[in-house]
Amino acid sequence: MRERYITCSSCGQGVEFSSKEPPCEVLSGWLTVSHWKGLGTVEYYNFCSFTCLKRWSEAHVPEIPKVFLESFEGESGGENASL
Ligand SMILES: [Zn+2]
Repeated sequence: MRERYITCSSCGQGVEFSSKEPPCEVLSGWLTVSHWKGLGTVEYYNFCSFTCLKRWSEAHVPEIPKVFLESFEGESGGENASL
């Protein structure tokens, strides 16, 4: 009997189920994301809840460094300021 194991890509919580059990029942409430990385490469991620999916996606969103934004704020007011 083959056992399958799925872990949440965010919190690491895992669910084990045998091939006899229907995955749709065991994985009720879980979310699976397909990340298409181009030319025959797809990565799948599993999440136990929307909270975990949100946390994971936020961690992967490219963030603009705060320092970069602050440098613009400084420029807008004082273009003629002497250095
Ligand atoms: Zn989770």
